[in-house]
Amino acid sequence: MNLDILRKKLKIRNQRMTIERELVLGAFLDSDAESLNIIEIREKIYDKRRRISKTTIQRILDIFYEIGIIKKIEYSDKMIRYVIIREEEEDKDYYIICKKCGKAFSYTVENNKKILETAEKQTGFIIDDFELEFIGLCPECSGEE
Ligand SMILES: [Zn+2]
Repeated sequence: MNLDILRKKLKIRNQRMTIERELVLGAFLDSDAESLNIIEIREKIYDKRRRISKTTIQRILDIFYEIGIIKKIEYSDKMIRYVIIREEEEDKDYYIICKKCGKAFSYTVENNKKILETAEKQTGFIIDDFELEFIGLCPECSGEE
């Protein structure tokens, strides 16, 4: 996760990048902690001599959660903690399906981000995700002829 990805995700929802949003994201990025709660986020922002109200931070966290850049960890007795989703997946598993016997194999596409970036460049779209499907003959079926 970096500022560019956040900016893109905000843009999809017609939301702007603001200094407050940048500071909240920064609190996560600067932190070595696995997760942060709202108090810890506020303290980190105070360290940079900025002040944001708890209400504003909460609103920003809700937006971040909605656009999928943070996860919530909820304990029944404690304050909600938030974890940033660090990077988009670079390698992703897809299925190859044999059209004859129906067997499915998994196949890892390395650096699938590259496919996405190329598609974005060529179409001007901001793409969230894509699906790939491989269909063919497995080694057993192709050897049968
Ligand atoms: Zn087969």
